[in-house]
Amino acid sequence: MLRSDYSDENCSIARALELIGERWSILILRDAFMGTHRFDEFQRRLGIARNVLQSRLERLVDAGIMRRVRYQERPERFEYRLTRKGVDLWPVLVALLNWGDRHAASQGPPIVLEHAGCGGAVDDRRRCVSCGADLEAWDVVPRQGPGWGTGAGYAPSADFAVAAR
Ligand SMILES: [Zn+2]
Repeated sequence: MLRSDYSDENCSIARALELIGERWSILILRDAFMGTHRFDEFQRRLGIARNVLQSRLERLVDAGIMRRVRYQERPERFEYRLTRKGVDLWPVLVALLNWGDRHAASQGPPIVLEHAGCGGAVDDRRRCVSCGADLEAWDVVPRQGPGWGTGAGYAPSADFAVAAR
């Protein structure tokens, strides 16, 4: 029988999945990298129940992967930003994106990543194929790819680059 809790396993993959392996958590992180910060925007993009979104965000905050940042005083309102620990998931998200493009995107990639500095494509190792630069999350912008519009997707956000800072 498959257990639902892997926290006592002596394996870093199991322990990482315990923190980020739930489907909504990965999609929240995806949207955070794409520039989403506010509860209502996560809710609108993901079409997720508010109570589920709340609990997933709290879990990511408790795990130190995201942090709540106040952006308005009266009434008090907060948004969610990736921490350094969260930004460290950048290679994981790019690897998932590349794997999905290769094995789960029959119409072609819906989103392609591009080096903001020169417009070059981003390879599997997060390197710009045009200028050779090693790319961090904030060096990259998402663009619509050939598979765009073939499914319910999300629109690339203009402030993607700001998201991961
Ligand atoms: Zn480049």
